[in-house]
Amino acid sequence: MASGEKVDYVFKVVLIGDSAVGKSQILARFARNEFSLDSKATIGVEFQTRTLVIDHKSVKAQIWDTAGQERYRAVTSAYYRGALGALLVYDITKRQSFDHIPRWLEELRGHADKNIVIMLVGNKSDLEDERAVSTEDAKEFAEKENLFFLETSALQATNVESAFQTVLSEIFKIHS
Ligand code: GDP
Ligand code: MG
Repeated sequence: MASGEKVDYVFKVVLIGDSAVGKSQILARFARNEFSLDSKATIGVEFQTRTLVIDHKSVKAQIWDTAGQERYRAVTSAYYRGALGALLVYDITKRQSFDHIPRWLEELRGHADKNIVIMLVGNKSDLEDERAVSTEDAKEFAEKENLFFLETSALQATNVESAFQTVLSEIFKIHS
């Protein structure tokens, strides 16, 4: 979209989950259609934007990425403030990153808008041979907790667009 065009809505969406699950690469894929295999740990709280059209309205997604603050309780409340959506990311090849999801969820629900739209994201679906978390386990958890769920590959650009599209359209339904 050309700069100077009007934006009807700005929606803040946060990325959370353990270090190295692929949050920054998911964002790079969505915001710039880029991917890097040797991505450096993110420094400083940052967000990137991408403007898309939903129901003939221009919606600017402001996507926040953690600053390598992925240790428990290190993400500040400012990070969550005003967030209307969240991608809760684990790595399908790292069981521990999935086991930590309940506490990320608890932290998110403790800080964010009560109507926040949450998508559970199992990233690195291209590494099927190294899979340590079954799709069924994740799906069951997501249903129990009322979360949307998708498996993505930032590397292969699988489902990254859908994950954001789903979250942003749901936010749009609630807030427009
Ligand atoms: P973050 O700490 O959660 O932001 O994780 P990064 O985005 O920095 O990614 C950590 C590592 O995983 C990097 O080496 C990435 O290149 C790699 N990575 C991220 N997404 C994928 C993916 O979908 N597939 C594969 N195979 N590697 C990925
Ligand atoms: Mg990162």
